[in-house]
Amino acid sequence: MTIPAGLADRFASLYGVPPVGVWSAPGRANLIGEHTDYNNGYVLPFAIDDRTWCAAGPNNVGLLRVASTAQTSRHSVAIADLEHAVFEGWSGYALGVAWALHTMGHDLSSAPGIDLLIDSTVPLGAGLSSSAALESAVAMALNDLWELRLTPMELAKVGQRAENGAIGAPTGVMDQVASLFGREDHAVLLDCASLRTTAVPLRLGASGLSLLVLDSKVKHAHADGGYASRRQACERGARELGVPFLRDLTVAQLDQAQSLLDDETFRRVRHVVTENARVLTTVEALATSGPGAIGDLLLASHASMRDDFEISVPEIDTAVETAMAAGAVGARLTGGGFGGSAVALVPTDRVRRLSDAVRTACSERGFAVPEIRTVNPSQGARRDK
Ligand code: ADP
Ligand code: MG
Repeated sequence: MTIPAGLADRFASLYGVPPVGVWSAPGRANLIGEHTDYNNGYVLPFAIDDRTWCAAGPNNVGLLRVASTAQTSRHSVAIADLEHAVFEGWSGYALGVAWALHTMGHDLSSAPGIDLLIDSTVPLGAGLSSSAALESAVAMALNDLWELRLTPMELAKVGQRAENGAIGAPTGVMDQVASLFGREDHAVLLDCASLRTTAVPLRLGASGLSLLVLDSKVKHAHADGGYASRRQACERGARELGVPFLRDLTVAQLDQAQSLLDDETFRRVRHVVTENARVLTTVEALATSGPGAIGDLLLASHASMRDDFEISVPEIDTAVETAMAAGAVGARLTGGGFGGSAVALVPTDRVRRLSDAVRTACSERGFAVPEIRTVNPSQGARRDK
């Protein structure tokens, strides 16, 4: 995707001078590895082709100023006041990146003010991580303009810090890692314990396959409580089994775990332990046999989330089942659950028929009609100009 037309002109009319550069970072989807991140396990997300752009340039008024084509409000903060800044509305995702840099010990006392204009094709709040795309694009711009020379992993942690501290969302680092480390036709294997990343070739085009994201358009009111209670169950399971994180358990140890835990905690633990194993098996299967061989793993992941972790909903189950009946190779809930999206791996020549079938099945059951998009694994954050 190229820089949106007119971005530099809009920047110039807002701030009086053209930007000195344009940076961008993509949204992401997760292929497999759900609720494994906070258990120090493995995730396998990929960057999508929808991106967030950040046109930026220095000012001489000591302010960080931001505007977005997706928002009516504009915001600013004095660099000298970052320590005590309170961020209104969406500005925490952008200006919070500078706050995060400050709190992580980067000396910004002689850093010039920066003006930012954001434009994006990532849908907001659809589970494709428009938030991490925004944080990562801004982090890239500030890193270059302030000559901080941070590594991509350091920038990912800065974005996560902004989201945790300036927004108050207790998210892991997966989204920012996918946005910063993504590569065309690759997924990113992240080991959440060591923060090691590995680019994993997908070879979708060569296999005649496409990835779809099916947004159910439902988000249940108890989503936040459900997420928190799943986290607690995982912590309880690890504590009772005497391991620091569920990541430290193997599938072979599950029998013994079953005799030590109550049924519900055991099923939560079984999801995480088997899901970690599925991520690694998926990586192996991709390397040895290609994406056509990972369908059963995606389906097993879905069944585990539906039956053991209990985070799926009828809308997503319908999308997954209908996609499979219409010829998908595999499909699963993606994201935190209680609504949100499914991801499906589909023969490219069936995308249209399968999408029609899913929309029809959902509306026949009285569900919202899902929004379906093809997502192409794409290059991560970069300077565009
Ligand atoms: P997701 O990351 O799944 O899209 P979130 O709720 O985590 O959903 O983040 C969405 C929020 O991020 C938006 O409500 C908005 O505050 C902010 N945001 C994302 N993209 C932009 C953008 N291009 N311009 C301004 N704010 C944005
Ligand atoms: Mg988000």
